[in-house]
Amino acid sequence: MGLLYRLSKPEQAIAWEGDMPITSRYTMGIAGERFFRAILDDEALWGTCCPECDVVYVPPRLYCERCFAQLDEWVEVPNTGYVYTYTIVHVDMDGNTLEDPRIMAYVRLEGTDGGLVHFLGEVDPEDVGIGMLVEAVFKDKAERKGSINDIAYFRPI
Ligand SMILES: [Zn+2]
Repeated sequence: MGLLYRLSKPEQAIAWEGDMPITSRYTMGIAGERFFRAILDDEALWGTCCPECDVVYVPPRLYCERCFAQLDEWVEVPNTGYVYTYTIVHVDMDGNTLEDPRIMAYVRLEGTDGGLVHFLGEVDPEDVGIGMLVEAVFKDKAERKGSINDIAYFRPI
């Protein structure tokens, strides 16, 4: 079987069972470090601004994706936004049916050109709609670890 051979059935692929002794470390980078530290320490969301393009990036970027300018202007952004799109999750990562479906949404943060993919909470799936105003609910400080999961979910306001 050559590299360009196209499998017509997945079971035709050769596979070996076993473990790979690999460890890896993901670094947040300069912008990610500042973004997640503000969530951890202050329950605050920050973005970077490109004055030339009038764009506020959340999550923050160090370079503008439109004009490639280096972005040095940081702005605190609201922890509120609206549901840009959403889906209702009925199974877990292993395909097991969830007792209570979860709602995942892309929340466009107010005053920004970005947003976050996160869970919605304190709302029933049948009551969710595009355009719904929501706010971030942060975990207690003792539970926060400097990750996106320091936001427990977004809830309607
Ligand atoms: Zn720009």
